[in-house]
Amino acid sequence: MTDRGFQADLHCHTTCSDGTLSPKQLVDLALSLGLQGLSITDHDTVEAYSLLDKTQYEGHLQLIPGAEFTTSHRGVSVHVLSYAFSLKDQNILALSRDHKVRREERIRAMASLLMKEGIDVEIEKILTTVRMPGRPHLAAALLQKGVVRDHKEAFDKYLGDDKKCFVKSHAISTEETLSIVKKAGAIPVIAHPHLIKEAKILRDILSMDFEGIEVFYANFPLSQCDKWLAESRKKGWIATGGSDFHGDLKAHIALGASYTPEESFKKILNRYVENELR
Ligand code: AMP
Ligand code: ZN
Ligand code: FE
Ligand code: FE
Repeated sequence: MTDRGFQADLHCHTTCSDGTLSPKQLVDLALSLGLQGLSITDHDTVEAYSLLDKTQYEGHLQLIPGAEFTTSHRGVSVHVLSYAFSLKDQNILALSRDHKVRREERIRAMASLLMKEGIDVEIEKILTTVRMPGRPHLAAALLQKGVVRDHKEAFDKYLGDDKKCFVKSHAISTEETLSIVKKAGAIPVIAHPHLIKEAKILRDILSMDFEGIEVFYANFPLSQCDKWLAESRKKGWIATGGSDFHGDLKAHIALGASYTPEESFKKILNRYVENELR
């Protein structure tokens, strides 16, 4: 334990989506850093939680169920963090299943386009090893086959938005996702508003039925978070924070780089307890 005060990182990824640490390794890292709270928020899946053994962390680290859902608003990808649902909630489990189907179809379509370029990424092999396939997995395959020198080249040449082998992902809308998350009694939070470029999208999102906003994010200095803290206060929304840790995939961002204030964490934890009792 450290004496840094309360630290809960509510945004990180494992090998169940595109992180490089397994759920167990991630929890070990959180314990070694002395974090008091954690939510694993893999893209579109809650599978990490079924791979954990409570005895690893109970009494040392408070783990709150979470996920980062990919949504679409006016054709723009918007990430929705969701917290505190019961891991048995059928709304959340069905949403994860739908995303898995969507991602598999899209990754197959991208693999076909790569095949047309004469590159065989062995898509069936990828799909048997990866739970929630995304473009980073295709980039890794291209790298492994020696087709590109690094991830950047893979995205610049083939996988990036509107590049040769890109296929647009048809995620369900932000509003529909919100309604499912609400049915689960979970807390929907606008992920990294700092990264939303279009003013119109931001305005729309801020008028939707969210209950929180990710004020503290990754390595962003506090000076760039003030605006979002003010926004959360104006709306009476919960101010959250997290690193968006991905392990080696984004090696410059450490677990715990940003974290959620204790007051916010307690509200989220209370909701989790309520949902477990429902
Ligand atoms: P997907 O969810 O399959 O669309 O993949 C999105 C992920 O691909 C992002 O989280 C990034 O990790 C990665 N990515 C997307 N665009 C780029 C890019 N231009 N350069 C490097 N990585 C990218
Ligand atoms: Zn990711
Ligand atoms: Fe995100
Ligand atoms: Fe993320």
